Parts: sequence; structure tokens; C-alpha cells
Amino acid sequence: MDFGLQDRVALVAAASRGIGFACARELAREGARVFLCSRNEGHASEAAAKIKDETGAEVRGLRADVTNNADIARFVDEAVEHAGHVDICVTNAGGPPATVFADTDLDMFRQAFEQNALSAIRLAKFVLPGMIEQKWGRIINITSVSVKQPIEGLLLSNTVRAGLTGWAKTVSNEVAANGVTVNNVAPGYTLTERQDELAEVRGKASGKSKQEVIATWAMQAPIQRLAAAEEIAAAVAFLASERASFITGVTLQVDGGWVRGLL
Ligand code: NAD
Repeated sequence: MDFGLQDRVALVAAASRGIGFACARELAREGARVFLCSRNEGHASEAAAKIKDETGAEVRGLRADVTNNADIARFVDEAVEHAGHVDICVTNAGGPPATVFADTDLDMFRQAFEQNALSAIRLAKFVLPGMIEQKWGRIINITSVSVKQPIEGLLLSNTVRAGLTGWAKTVSNEVAANGVTVNNVAPGYTLTERQDELAEVRGKASGKSKQEVIATWAMQAPIQRLAAAEEIAAAVAFLASERASFITGVTLQVDGGWVRGLL
């Protein structure tokens, strides 16, 4: 299937590693011109060089913190300066800390909203006007299966990502007639560097090995394994594609069957 992504201009946020990196690489493999960001300039450049070497695509890595307005304005400006416009924007950020309500103060809610909701909304503020004007655009937010089935102990993710999902559905309706789609990809357990580190920490805390923790996560999904980041990225590339032109306002879980609900 031709995704029609050749020479499309894609921004991918928080992409020095993990799911963001895999999304940037997948879009580059499909021929898109990719601009990725990370808080650390060296990490962003390294990630871009790696993808460029592998795919031969135009890939640039820029330093930008998704919670910082000036950084994101510059990130979008630099992409527009080089490529003329933006077609695709994949929003992403590191996840919020795992907490329960008794241990969560209001500032932690504010920080999580900033990092996992406002970061995406901010990027959209900068890229949507151009997409509407050119009558073509794709916004894809990386969220979590927690928006379909809240995860115990992940209070902040369960709370703020649900808000972002409401925002995405509302805005998708506002811009649909302009050829712009807004969708969410909700990963289930995915074996990224972060998840590997988390398994190590959880294992130490509970007297289990890292492999045992990972196996516990794997067994929660009917597919009985974790996703590879590439499997999340494949869904993102599809939603970014020409072929997904009639899909908007949806949350596509990529979770090996983890969510037990029907929709
Ligand atoms: P990760 O920690 O491996 O990667 C996160 C990336 O974001 C890194 O490159 C990091 O440098 C960058 N980043 C973090 N904060 C940033 C900021 N403020 N500005 C710019 N860059 C920033 O995480 P991951 O496992 O790839 O997960 C990506 C997202 O998907 C997270 O929000 C996570 O909570 C969510 N998610 C992950 C899983 C999973 O199992 N891995 C499951 C569901 C949801």
C-alpha cells in the first residue's frame, strides 16, 4: 500500500528514543521529510543522524522542550523555514510519574497537564493554522490505553490524557472540513528503553527480576507480549497517510488486545 507520504513534512516531538523515535523513523522510511525534537540537542542530532543513515530521508534533530512555548515556536519556525510548511505533527512527551491520589499534590496535576496535554495542544496551536490554509494536515497524539481503561497507580496519566482526548475529538470536528484530521494512538505496554528501566526499578522494589516484571505486563494482554515501538509507529504512519483520509477524531489503541472494552 502506498501511504502517499513521500516528501510530506512531518514534525515528531520527543523523539530521541522510544515511541517518538520509532515514529520519526517510520515516517522517514515512508519518504517524509522529518523534523524531530528532544530536550537535549546532542540526543536530537544523534537520533536524526541515525534515521538519516538508515533511510536516506531528510531528517533534522532540534532541541526543544515540549513544555516550553518559545522552544516549540522555534521548532515549528525552523521546520517551516526549511521545508516551507508542515503536513504532519506527531505529539509526544515522556509520561507522568506513577502515583495514587493520596500522594499527588495539585502541582503534580499541573505538571502532568503541562507535559501530557498542553504540550500537544501547544504544538497544534502552532501548526494547525498552516494545515487549515493548505487544506491538508494530520495531527496524531501519542497517548495511552489508560484513556480507554484507566490503569491502577497511573492517576496522572488516567486524568490528563483523558482531557487531551476530549480536546482532540472536539478540535477534529472543528477542522475536518479543511482536510485536517486529528487522531490519537494509544499504546499498550511497549518495550522501550523507558519501560525497560521501569521494569528494573519495579523488579528491585518487589524482589523480582526485570524479566519477571516484563512477563507480568505481557500476560495482561491476550497477545501475551509487549509491543515493539515499531508496531506503534506503524499505526501512526497509517493515520498520517493519504489512506487514512476519512479517519478523524478516533483513538486507536495498539495494545495486543489489552483493553477489554468494545470500542
Ligand atoms: P521514553 O521515555 O522512552 O521516551 C520519551 C521521549 O520523550 C524521550 O526521547 C525523552 O527525551 C523525550 N521527552 C520527555 N520529556 C520531554 C519534553 N518535555 N520535551 C521534549 N522531549 C521530551 O517513553 P516511551 O516509552 O517512548 O513513551 C512515549 C509516550 O508514550 C509517553 O508519554 C508514555 O507515557 C506513553 N506510553 C508508553 C507506553 C509504553 O509501554 N512504553 C505505554 C503507554 C503510553
